[in-house]
Amino acid sequence: MNLNDLDKISQQFNTTEKMPVLFLGHGSPMNAIEENQFVQGFRNISREIPKPNAILCISAHWFTNGTFVTAMQNPKTIHDFYGFPKELFAVDYPAPGSPELARETAELLLPEIVEEDHSWGLDHGAWSVIKHLYPNAEIPVIQLSIDYTKPPEYHFDLAKRLQKLRKKGILIIGSGNIVHNLRMVDWKNINTVGAGWDWAVEAREKTNNWLLDGNFRNLIDYQNQGIALQTAVPSPDHYLPLIYSLGLKENSDQLSLFNDELIGGSLSMTSVRIG
Ligand code: ZN
Repeated sequence: MNLNDLDKISQQFNTTEKMPVLFLGHGSPMNAIEENQFVQGFRNISREIPKPNAILCISAHWFTNGTFVTAMQNPKTIHDFYGFPKELFAVDYPAPGSPELARETAELLLPEIVEEDHSWGLDHGAWSVIKHLYPNAEIPVIQLSIDYTKPPEYHFDLAKRLQKLRKKGILIIGSGNIVHNLRMVDWKNINTVGAGWDWAVEAREKTNNWLLDGNFRNLIDYQNQGIALQTAVPSPDHYLPLIYSLGLKENSDQLSLFNDELIGGSLSMTSVRIG
């Protein structure tokens, strides 16, 4: 990346102070329409950070062979879930896209080949949380997919190439859940905040300590950190968005946690602010 590259981005977006990076624990799609402490946490964080020029979201729910970036002018709201109430399917989040930011993102990620996508849109990993941060849907949103053929280290390194976007007012959001085992949900306590199986409690404590200590090696190498982590992260989809957010942390960035609760036995809503 050289100055010319920054100039290109600046054609669309003015230069800003370095934007924070977020990881948001999105939990149940019902958070999109419910009122609870977690959506309040999302609202609060949007008040604490500068208003972005645009948002780049890496969602657990766009898991692809290869890496894609949404490049349409008007991304549709995707209701990628089943068995939820009609009112959830009725939610529309009409934020514009940004073909320009999509192109710049693909260029920044070179030599990795990132294809521009015109068929996806905004999945619920993106809109169910972004709607609480920016309810007026006036800020353009694009999504970057997660290549499921690649190991965690790859995603950590790929994210670093997006660093320059932070000074163009782009808010980069990873959206997933650190502890996320849907097979082990304690249905009796599905809405009980603080309810966690022993392994979930252990996994949250370990990952929180590594986050706050800056021990990202262990977080990247989560598959070799014992049975609690393996049970908390049975598949990488909801975990890897965190790795993207961590890849963007520079030494000068502070890191803090919010919405840091277990719920339903086997899920954590723990969210991270970097910078
Ligand atoms: Zn999800």
